[in-house]
Parts: sequence; structure tokens; C-alpha cells
Amino acid sequence: MKKEILVATHNQHKKEEIQQILGEKFTVTSLTDYDIHDEIVEDGNTFRENACIKAEYCFKTTGKASLGDDSGLVVDALDGRPGIYSARYAGKHDFAKNMAKVLGEMEHEENRKAYFVTVMCLMDENGVHYFEGRIYGQIRRELSGSEGFGYDPIFQPDNYEITFAEMPMEEKNKISHRRKAIDQLLDFMAEEV
Ligand code: IMP
Repeated sequence: MKKEILVATHNQHKKEEIQQILGEKFTVTSLTDYDIHDEIVEDGNTFRENACIKAEYCFKTTGKASLGDDSGLVVDALDGRPGIYSARYAGKHDFAKNMAKVLGEMEHEENRKAYFVTVMCLMDENGVHYFEGRIYGQIRRELSGSEGFGYDPIFQPDNYEITFAEMPMEEKNKISHRRKAIDQLLDFMAEEV
């Protein structure tokens, strides 16, 4: 029998991406499939805590193996900000304002080091497992490119001369923090079945 994994999201795209990567041995479902429309309050202090809050909410509500995730941008010179506040650093889901705030705060900074991180938490009757992916790079001084979302126009991954927003989506998805976390999950699931 196929193993079901409930992903703590309403985002159909996220569900399909995980389904595609995990393959046909698994059935990936989302909150929408369970008619759960609550907004899960992410009030943890770390990426791990937030990923766990989401997974735990789904597991406790449905009893199904559940996956929660949390991602963000961590900037060295800003002591790790925007971090867990990435989605709402200057304005909720306002990517332009959020990038402008980061660039403003870094105007006189020579240290441009930063990374994106994704933490995933898988919770089921056997316990809790975490998976983490990171991609290191630099914060540009200006926006460049129009692909992607979030902070992509100001993030240049190491070993590239272009930003995430100048990369075709397929290329970003091969090297991204999310991809690395999902690959770890995949390795773990391969051992499980
Ligand atoms: P989430 O936890 O995946 O919803 O990500 C939280 C926030 O982090 C997003 O709203 C973005 O601002 C930022 N972020 C996460 N992943 C990326 C990425 O791949 N590119 C740009 N920004 C990202």
C-alpha cells in the first residue's frame, strides 16, 4: 500500500512538487484535501520550531504522517535577519518592500554573505525527523532579474554570476535550499520503504 504524507500547506504547487520528487510510492496530500482551512500560527523562534508547529498541527488533527516546512533568508551582516521573519520583514508578502529593507540596512556593509535555508519536519507515529537544506551566496547591491519570488533578485548563489531571479526556474530548483531539504527527505523515505 502507498504511504501517505500530508503536507502542511494550502499551496497546490508545493504539494505537486513534493509528490513529483517522492514518486509514485507515496501519496502526497495537503490541508485542502482534508478541508482544513485554518491558518496555522507560526510563532516559533526558529525555522525548526515553525516547521514542527506545522507538522504537529497536521499530525494531531488527522493522525497522518505530516510534513511541515519553513524557509527564509539569513544574512551574516544583519545577525541572521530577516531569518524567520523573511515573509514579513517590512510588509507581509511584499517582496519589493522586504528587499528594499535588506538593501537599505546593508548599504554600508562590505560583508555580503547570506544563505537561504529550508527546514522540513516529518512527524508520524514513530516520531519526529528534521531535514535541512542551505544554499550559500551573496547579497547584491541592486535587484537583478524577474524570475522566482521573494528575495531572488538580490541573491547571487556562490559559483554563479547571476541572481536566482536571472536563472531559469529549473536551474534554481536543482541547487536550491528547498531541493536539498527534499533530497534528504527522499533519502530518508527510501530507507523507510
Ligand atoms: P516559506 O517558509 O517557504 O513560506 O518562505 C518564507 C519566506 O522566505 C518567503 O516569503 C520568502 O520571502 C523567503 N524565501 C523562501 N524561499 C525563497 C526562495 O527560494 N527565494 C526567495 N525568497 C525565498
